[in-house]
Amino acid sequence: MDDGAPRSGDILIPAAEIAVIVNSCFWDGCPEHTKDTKSRTKWWAAKIAENQAGDLVATEAWKRQGWDVQVFWEHERPDDVVRHILETSDAKGHKLLSDSATEISAS
Ligand SMILES: [Zn+2]
Repeated sequence: MDDGAPRSGDILIPAAEIAVIVNSCFWDGCPEHTKDTKSRTKWWAAKIAENQAGDLVATEAWKRQGWDVQVFWEHERPDDVVRHILETSDAKGHKLLSDSATEISAS
């Protein structure tokens, strides 16, 4: 991207200025799924710490530009993620879906 953000969001919603980042449980060090460090070498730990630092920089860059940054983990339920994004968008005054389409069913 040319706007100075070091990392693009995984999903961008320009109308509502929402950047959605979906973190990898492994690469981004999910607190629920990386508790077991027995098999993790120093190299992996450093790599994950580096990714987390990069995520923080990216998030701050988006926020400076006035965007809402929504960070999720890959283990989160997709319908919960979508609902959260829609709620944030609604709160900002941008209805992404018409009322009749806001009911999201879990599959
Ligand atoms: Zn996870």
